Parts: sequence; C-alpha cells; structure tokens
Amino acid sequence: MVRARVLETNVYKALSRSGLPDIDYALNPYIGCWHSCTYCYARIYVRNSVVSRNWGSVILVKKNIVEVLSREVKRLKLGAVGVGTITDAYQPLEAIYGLTRRSIDVLLKEGFQVSIQTKNPLILRDLDLLEKHRDHVDIGLTITTFNPRVAEFIEPRAPPPKARASALRKASERGFKTWIFYGPVIPSLNDDDSTIDEIIELAKDTGSKIFIDRLHVKSFMYMPNHPLNELISLTRKYEWRSFLTKVMNKCLKAGVKCVEAFTKTYSQRALEEFI
Ligand code: SF4
Repeated sequence: MVRARVLETNVYKALSRSGLPDIDYALNPYIGCWHSCTYCYARIYVRNSVVSRNWGSVILVKKNIVEVLSREVKRLKLGAVGVGTITDAYQPLEAIYGLTRRSIDVLLKEGFQVSIQTKNPLILRDLDLLEKHRDHVDIGLTITTFNPRVAEFIEPRAPPPKARASALRKASERGFKTWIFYGPVIPSLNDDDSTIDEIIELAKDTGSKIFIDRLHVKSFMYMPNHPLNELISLTRKYEWRSFLTKVMNKCLKAGVKCVEAFTKTYSQRALEEFI
C-alpha cells in the first residue's frame, strides 16, 4: 500500500501574486501532490527540497492558511484567485483538512472571484458552498485521456478520467461556468483523434471551453528510468502547431471554444510568480 508522509507547517502568507491573465492571485493550501502525475513538473518550482525530491510521498499542509487568508483579504484589492495552480487543492488530503473549502468560503464572502482547476471529483462536495456565489466561480477539470491504461501510466493516483468527466457534467448541470484542461498532450500517448473527439464532445455537452497544453519537457525527465523518457525525443520533434490547428478546426466545427493554455515564455514566468 502506498502511503504519503504529511508535514504540517504554518505560513505567513496565503495568496501569491499570479502572472496569468485574468488571474490575480494563487492559492495552494497543499505543497506536494498525492496524484503523482508522471509529467508533473511542479516539483521543480517547490522550494521545500524534501517535498520536491519525494514528489507524491511527502505533502506539506499549510495548516494556518485559513486564518492568515482571513486577515490578508481585508487589505488586498479584490480580484480573481486561481485555486490549485501548483498542486491539486482537491487531492485526497483535502477530505481530511478541508483547507481549500474554508479558504474558498473566505474568498467568496469577501467578494473575490475563484477559478478552480482539479483532477478530483472531491470538488463536488463543495458545490453547495460554491453555488451561493455561482457568478464568482469557474471550475476546470483536467482531462488528458479517456483510455484507462494511458491514465494509469501518466496519472497513476489521480481519479479516473470518467469520474472527472462526470464531475464536470455535474458542475455544468448545476449552472457553473466550466472548462477542460486538455494537457499535457504527449505525442503518441494522448494526441489521437478519438481522445480529441471525446474531449470536444464533453466540452460541447457541458458548454465548457477547452484549454490545450503541450508537454513541457524538464531536465529531471531525462533520467533513464523516467516513465516518459522514450517519449521525450518525440516531443522535441513534434509538430505542435499542426496538432493545434487540427484540434482548433475540430472545435470550430463543433462550436466549442478552444485556446492554447500557455505560450512557452509565459508559462515559465507565470509558474515562477506563483511560488
Ligand atoms: S494533479 Fe497536478 S499537481 Fe498533482 S501531480 Fe498531477 S500534475 Fe502535479
């Protein structure tokens, strides 16, 4: 049985400034992520070396974040807060600590906008709270594939894609603005037509916008035993623009809004500013 070590810490700051357009602040109640996605490069931006070296096995819980946030929001200019910008704010520990729920409650009551990205249907637990402020909330589910074997390879401990799709449907049915994060796209793994078509169909059914992102190759992935090692050379040669054009054309035909999530320079700058 896989276990994670949980470290509790106190912080002096709850929100960080965001470099993303439309997002002013970032909220990450947990550092480190149980989901342990193969492609995750959040670890290289995490200052705590124990968490970063043991990604998925050590998770830092910002135990006093709600109290700090409650004070912080009084002096900050209102804006949009990205929730789970570095690590998933609805990873399983949230079911125990409830820090994301309580933080969102503080933010919404104070009048902030909240933009949530997750892979975990645990977010459904909080729809009761979120729907009191529906116009101030948008919900994004990351869906990279519908193939269970591919999902198991790249996102070994994240909830299955079908469960995420179902969470997205429920959020959409409850009237929330929803979106799908289709990324990273990894050549020969999840760039096939049936994956694209299924994602577009889900977006169409739920009125969701699609954000597409490529695989960002990082130096730690070059280790011979890294799960994506063999695919990295394919990524280097990949014709991203032509893939993107294909997806955009399909979206256009289906009447689905679709945008590229990050440009290279932008994503690096944004990540640095998040931490
Ligand atoms: S859910 Fe996000 S933060 Fe967590 S391991 Fe996967 S990619 Fe990284």
